[in-house]
Parts: sequence; C-alpha cells; structure tokens
Amino acid sequence: MSANKTGKFAHLSYYKASCPALTVLLLLSVLLSLSSSRVYAEKLASIIIDDLGNSYEYGFDVINLPGALTLAILPRTNYAKELARLAIKSNKEVMLHLPLQSVENQMPSPGTLDLHMTRKKFIQQLRLNLNAVPYVRGVNNHMGSLLTRHPGHMRWLMDELARRGNLYFVDSKTTSQSIADKIAVEHHIPNLSRDFFLDPQFDEKTIRKQFDLFIQKINHRGYALAIAHPHPNTIKFLQSHLNELAEQGITLITVSRLIQHSGSPYNQQALNVHKPGNL
Ligand SMILES: [Zn+2]
Repeated sequence: MSANKTGKFAHLSYYKASCPALTVLLLLSVLLSLSSSRVYAEKLASIIIDDLGNSYEYGFDVINLPGALTLAILPRTNYAKELARLAIKSNKEVMLHLPLQSVENQMPSPGTLDLHMTRKKFIQQLRLNLNAVPYVRGVNNHMGSLLTRHPGHMRWLMDELARRGNLYFVDSKTTSQSIADKIAVEHHIPNLSRDFFLDPQFDEKTIRKQFDLFIQKINHRGYALAIAHPHPNTIKFLQSHLNELAEQGITLITVSRLIQHSGSPYNQQALNVHKPGNL
C-alpha cells in the first residue's frame, strides 16, 4: 500500500519538476473543483410582498409574518400610509410599488405612469406617487410590461430616482424585454432584478415548487430575490414555511441589505449611508 502511494507521489513529483504546464493544469483542476463546490459563508434571501395597500386585513397579516420582509405598497390606496407605519414598527422595509403601463392596460391602478404622458406630467405623477407612501427605501414596478421596454421613459424615471438619491430600484421583470435594470445601472442607481415569483399561481403546489427553486438558487449563487403577493394561500404558506430558510442556513434580509451584499461596487457604496439599524 505504502509502496503504491510512494510510487504515485514520486510519479507526480517527477512531472511537477519536469513539466510546469502539468503543474498549472493540476492547480487549475483543484481550483475548479473548489469553485464548483463553493460554500458560501453567508446565504442570503430577500422576499418582497407587493400589491399592498388596498386591503388592511391582508396587509396586517403580511406585516405579522416573521423576519425581515420587504413590503411594496401601491400609491393612492386606502391603507398605504397606515400599513407603511405599521410595517416600520414591525422592522419591515417599505418600498413604493410603482404602477407602470402594461401591454394589456386593463384597469390601471391609480397613479399609473404611461407612454402618452409628457415628461412634465410623468415626473409630476412620479413625485406624487413617491410622496404617497412614507418610509420608502426603494421602488419596484407594478405591471409595466409596456413601459419598462421604453428607454426614454425609463430614463425619465431613473433621472428622478437619482435626483432624489438614497433609493434603490428592483426590476420586477414583468416582461423579458424589460430594460429597466440596464437603465438603472446607467444612472448608477443601486438595483437588483427579481429572480422568482413565489406565487405565479396561488395553489399550494405551485408556491411549494417556486419556494424550492428559490432555495436552490440561493444555495447555488449565495443569494436570491423573490416577489410574492398578499393572497391568503401565499400568506398561509409563508406562515408555515418561512422558517425553512433558517433551517437551511439562509438569512432573510431586507432588499436594501441584499443589494449591498450582492451588487457591484456602486451598489455597495450608494446604500452605505444608511445605518445598519435602519435596514
Ligand atoms: Zn404588482
């Protein structure tokens, strides 16, 4: 046995000494095997619950879910302000869920920004929306499958977010053709894109499947961002299963913190002005 081993090592050291290219190859293979089985020091998750503001009851249930969830509230809804205040008291983060025109454009939410607006009207409406929800740390789009494809209007939006400062942007990716994330990058606005909708349908089987994919992505990349909705089935699922994240060594953090951990250098610098206690 030991003779065998000695022989094997002798064989390698012969090539190591005589063939630098082989040494490099050996080192590369070790590095590759290390990177493919990479173990993340921290595994991080963020979940945005959006479409909030119309129902006090569902909003209240979401706020009472455990952990650092991020709540995206629609402007000009009956309970926007009250839910934002309650969310902050429960250590949740608040975002503006900004309505943008969709392709279907059916029953647009109050405050929807659309393609026909002049720049002046667009900015006015955007400012009203931003001021309609207190404690806003960032913005994600509600609908928007039409508007997020239009670079001109997305530049108006990002110009205003950059002007106000200290706001991040999450591209909800309601269309694969969205260029909102790219325009946010152009404007140096801290940003991330949604990885999963947890409830594209509201049956438990779909939510379970999406939640498993979400966990898989976190295990593979170290972090992921999901969006879910205040539907009774989703709320019930999260009440029962959110703790699975901790069981798998995953920390649930607010979106502003996830952006700091996951993003490019300007993501990290831009949000550093906030004290950790406020995240
Ligand atoms: Zn929405």
